This record gives sequence, structure tokens and C-alpha cells, in this order.
Amino acid sequence: MKIAIIGGGASGMTTAHLLDKTHDVCVFEKQAILGGNIRTLNKNVTCDALDSRITLDNGVIEFERDYFPNFHKLMYQLDVQLEEVPLTSEIFLPDGHHYKSAGAIIYGCKNMWQQIIESLKLTPIVFSYLCFLLRMAFTNPHSFRGHPVSYFLGNSISARWLKMLLMYAYSMPYKMIDNFPAEIGLPLLNHSGMLTKWDRIVGGVYSYIEKILAQFSGTICCDANIMGISRNSTGVNINLANSDKCHFDKVIFATTPDQILPLLQDASEAEIRRFKAWEASIIETVIHTDISVYKHFGVSYFSEFDVFQNNDEGDCGYNAYLDRLCGVSPTIDTHFSLAYNLNQYIAPEKIIDVQKHSTPNYNVEAIRYRQEVLDTNGENNTYHAGAYLFEGLHEGAITSGLEVSKLLGGLQL
Ligand SMILES: Cc1cc2nc3c(=O)[nH]c(=O)nc-3n(C[C@H](O)[C@H](O)[C@H](O)COP(=O)(O)OP(=O)(O)OC[C@H]3O[C@@H](n4cnc5c(N)ncnc54)[C@H](O)[C@@H]3O)c2cc1C
Repeated sequence: MKIAIIGGGASGMTTAHLLDKTHDVCVFEKQAILGGNIRTLNKNVTCDALDSRITLDNGVIEFERDYFPNFHKLMYQLDVQLEEVPLTSEIFLPDGHHYKSAGAIIYGCKNMWQQIIESLKLTPIVFSYLCFLLRMAFTNPHSFRGHPVSYFLGNSISARWLKMLLMYAYSMPYKMIDNFPAEIGLPLLNHSGMLTKWDRIVGGVYSYIEKILAQFSGTICCDANIMGISRNSTGVNINLANSDKCHFDKVIFATTPDQILPLLQDASEAEIRRFKAWEASIIETVIHTDISVYKHFGVSYFSEFDVFQNNDEGDCGYNAYLDRLCGVSPTIDTHFSLAYNLNQYIAPEKIIDVQKHSTPNYNVEAIRYRQEVLDTNGENNTYHAGAYLFEGLHEGAITSGLEVSKLLGGLQL
């Protein structure tokens, strides 16, 4: 069959890989590059300001080991090298207080006394986190449905830290996190505790897309400007801006969900209901070399998940120390970080790359019809893939590709 995949991010490229052996696949990507939120400098993103021997990720970076089984199966099948990364975190508050996670205390304190002081500071937060885990253990996950995370999390420092980790994981403004759906956020927070292991992709996240492309026999159209998509009993018509019309047997939407209705020229009432509440959240991430971000807190150890509350109104940002997350050689003097919403701390001349990302704005209303989308996959020659159909991260992107592949007789992992 001739199959069009709209969107060349993680879910689109995984679906293309799984269907490639059994179908004639064409990927339409609106950007000039593939990868979606995968932005690996010196791979799919050119960056003249960066030494060509270094690869840095200015988007997707790390993957939880036990919570991401399909992701790990795909990496194994593609022979992609993974490496465990340490996972430490610190929360910085507007009053100047800051608290290190257990990992940051182990790796980041200069001596035993400092470790004891930091551990004592952390004790009430750990206690409150353990209470959260205990509460979760006795809460039926079905009761998360229809509620935002704020319904289950309060405003303690530990709750704020957890909400900031959601801000980090989904790169959504902190103010939107209170309304983040509990059924997606709480299982992730439950699985992201102190004992979890996280992996990075050696050579940068885009390396696995390169491996997919090396085996791919279908067609890739970047810079695709699709004016509209219509369906009938014989298949799918895709109208391009240059007046070209292409006919396919099936179409797979692997865009963010807010893009589906603007593309569909003949959306049914059911499709309008399923997708109308989705909106895009557009954010910018920067890669910079400014280590003075931490100066006024007197901190010299930078963590993988440093979260900052910028003011009492709840304006928050994050800084992820990339040297360990991206495996930068210790012989290189410059230190690299990825930051979101910390522009006031970063000297403009120390910024080496800025990336704009579009993610679904996850909220209780928007995810209401996700199961219906999965249950009706294939209706009217139309399929849907995308991280948003599951937990919103890379595991969801790969799992959604597997679901579509199952329906269309493609590969399984
Ligand atoms: C800054 C940032 C960091 C993240 N870090 C992590 C991480 O460390 N680990 C993790 O697991 N997840 C992370 N995520 C979540 C990440 O979004 C998912 O893991 C996954 O990459 C999403 O893949 P996707 O294919 O569903 O969507 P996307 O990556 O958004 O891909 C959708 C694609 O569709 C294309 N498209 C949209 N409209 C059209 C159109 N009209 N025509 C053609 N193409 C179109 C887009 O250009 C894009 O390429 C991060 C997200 C962001 C924003």
C-alpha cells in the first residue's frame, strides 16, 4: 500500500521504519530537518559556534530505563549505543534557598560536613516525597482520570519540585503545570524517584534517526507545505502548496495533535470533537556556556535537572548541565548547559544555539478523547501516532508507532 506519514519526529520516523518493509512509505515533514523535538547540534542542527567533534542535544536528551521498554527495544534493534547518565537535581527558590537531591549531595558536596548539612536540609522534603509515594501506592490510578496534578499535589517544596520536573520533562510553562493531567503526570513522577536509571544516546539523540534513515527505502519530503488532506473510499489526497496532488491508500498523522484539524479538509464531527481542544505550547530552549547562572546561589556543582523558581508569582525555568548528559569530554574547558526560561541569568554572548519547540499543551480537557483516537485508528483510511497518545515522552512516540504498525501489518519489536 502507498502510505503517507505527516510529521518526521520520533513517532513519524519510528512508524516509517516499522512499515518500510511491507509498504511504500512517504514522510512529509514541514521543517527543513527531520526529528521534531530531537535537535542534536552537529547532527540534524548545524551550529558553527560549536566544535565539530562535540554533539549536544537542544531538545530531547534522556530516557528512563524501566519506564521506556519499547524505546529500549527499538534502540537494541537499531544497534544504538546507550549510556547511563547520573541523575541529580537541585531546586533554587527566589528567597535564595536551594535544596540538593540525594544524588547531588553524594556527587556535589565537597566534604562530609557539607553532605550532613545538605542531608538535614533535605530530610523534610524527602519525608514529604515519601508520603506522596505512599499516597500514590494506595490510590487507584483510575481515580487520576479527569483531574489535574494540582488536585493531588499541594504547594509544599517537594510538590513544587515535582511540578518543576514535569515542566522540565514536557517543556511546558510552569503556570500550565497545575492543570497538567494527573493520569499522565503522576505515573511519571511515581517512576522518576531516586532509584530510577536514565540513559542517553551516545553521539546524540538524532543518531537513532540516522540509523533509521540508513535502512529506509521510502521517500522523505522535508519543507513540505501541505495545504489540505481529504479522504474518500478509494484513499487519501494530499494537496501541496505547489498545486501538486498526491494520492495514497492511507494517511498517518504523526504531527502534534493541534495540527490535525487545520490539515483535514473533510474532518468528521467525531474528529472535530477528538482534536478541537488541543493547542500548541511553543517554547524556546537555549544552549549556553554561562556558568555564572549559579553564581548568586554560591553553587559550584551543576545538576542534570536544576530547576529555578524565578519569583514568587511562580515563574520557573530549568538548567540542564549537558557535560555529563551529552558525554562532553572532560578535556574540553567549556561547560555547556541547556536552559529554558532563564534568560535573565544568561549573558547573550554565551548563547550558542536557540531552538523553538512545539509541544502539545497537555491539559485535562485536551486528553479526554485520547482513548477514542486509539480505538478508532484506521477509520476512513486515517491513523494517528504521536507521543501525546501515551505518556507524552519518547516511549509514547515509539509505542504509538507500534500500534499503527500492528494495524497495518508492519514490524513489531
Ligand atoms: C525541549 C524538549 C525536551 C524534551 N526532552 C525529552 C526527553 O529528554 N526525553 C523524552 O522522552 N521526551 C522528551 N521530550 C518530549 C518529546 O516531545 C517526545 O519525546 C517526542 O520526541 C515527541 O515526538 P512526536 O513525534 O510525538 O512529536 P514531535 O517531535 O513534535 O514531531 C512532530 C513532527 O510533525 C511535524 N509537523 C507538524 N505539523 C506538520 C505539518 N503541517 N506538515 C508536516 N509536518 C508537520 C513537526 O515539524 C515535527 O517534526 C522533550 C520535548 C521538548 C520540547
